[in-house]
Amino acid sequence: MSKFWSPFVKELVPYVPGEQPKLTKLVKLNTNENPYGPSPKALAAMQGEINDNLRLYPDPNSDLLKQAVAEYYGVQANQVFLGNGSDEVLAHAFNGLFQHDKPLLFPDISYSFYPVYCGLYGIEFDAVPLDKQFQIQPADYAKPNGGIIFPNPNAPTGCLLALDAIEQILKASPDSVVVVDEAYIDFGGETAISLVDRYPNLLVTQTLSKSRSLAGLRVGLAVGHPDLIEALERIKNSFNSYPLDRIAIAGAAAAFEDREYFEQTCQLVIDSREQVVGQLQALGFEVLPSAANFIFARHPEHDAAALAAKLREQGVIVRHFKQLRIAQFLRISIGTPEQNAALIEGLSDI
Ligand SMILES: *Cc1c(COP(=O)(O)O)cnc(C)c1O
Repeated sequence: MSKFWSPFVKELVPYVPGEQPKLTKLVKLNTNENPYGPSPKALAAMQGEINDNLRLYPDPNSDLLKQAVAEYYGVQANQVFLGNGSDEVLAHAFNGLFQHDKPLLFPDISYSFYPVYCGLYGIEFDAVPLDKQFQIQPADYAKPNGGIIFPNPNAPTGCLLALDAIEQILKASPDSVVVVDEAYIDFGGETAISLVDRYPNLLVTQTLSKSRSLAGLRVGLAVGHPDLIEALERIKNSFNSYPLDRIAIAGAAAAFEDREYFEQTCQLVIDSREQVVGQLQALGFEVLPSAANFIFARHPEHDAAALAAKLREQGVIVRHFKQLRIAQFLRISIGTPEQNAALIEGLSDI
């Protein structure tokens, strides 16, 4: 706290990201990064951008990447918005698309950045409890609201909501924007982008950080009705005209074009996930059904915080949240087969 801080800054409660340890020999299963590297074609495209052209500003509209995303999903370029990571895309959606006279709805157990954006933009929210099986019940969202947002699959549970359930939520709130945060959709879910032409109140966000293994590049996107996209563009052009640099535009476009590498690496993660789930269950863990690149598990006889601390002593880091309802769970990212083996070995020893 300093006398130079504005009253607004004094009240902010920022998001706390998962640890990025300086020790590189740790088995890092705490922030849902992809264990496989980015597409070699994406890396080559980025290397091709490291030249004298970096003295020039990038294309403010990132048209090359917009076109690649539009082609990939079979939508028009004016239905696509791009940002510096999907966190930035989400921030603009909070700022530009959620109303302030009624509360924003999101699940009580969900991405912990949502309440932070509510604080930053002065949005009231109402956390809607997941049911006893930690699932979203669409009927619970059929009440007055200034917007709705949820990750699908949900984070940190990994549980997937079917498209017909999403449609139920969209139909019940035709006058509110519903944001489906699909950070993990490529690990076993079906994207709601197929619904954007029928629901002008639907905005789907995605990231290249997880399934395309480019967390370090910072690229995220949204797909929705051109009117929603225009609102996001208005905010972007009032904040930072160049959220994506030349390297990011080229690398992300190449990553979308390299379908084969993308599909192969997603499948490797899915296969490993199923294996790790089986191994954890054999050790007595209860594991929520996951459609993501992480799993959410608890052990009936071991305190989750203590388990996380002991795993760390063995060189494996996983994520533990202090939130009441999930305090006995661990969120474990799926790693390479070697990393997963280190996790299972560490847990077996404990
Ligand atoms: C990782 C994640 C994001 C943010 O991704 P970036 O594109 O890296 O900013 C958004 N939502 C959820 C639920 C996530 O887990």
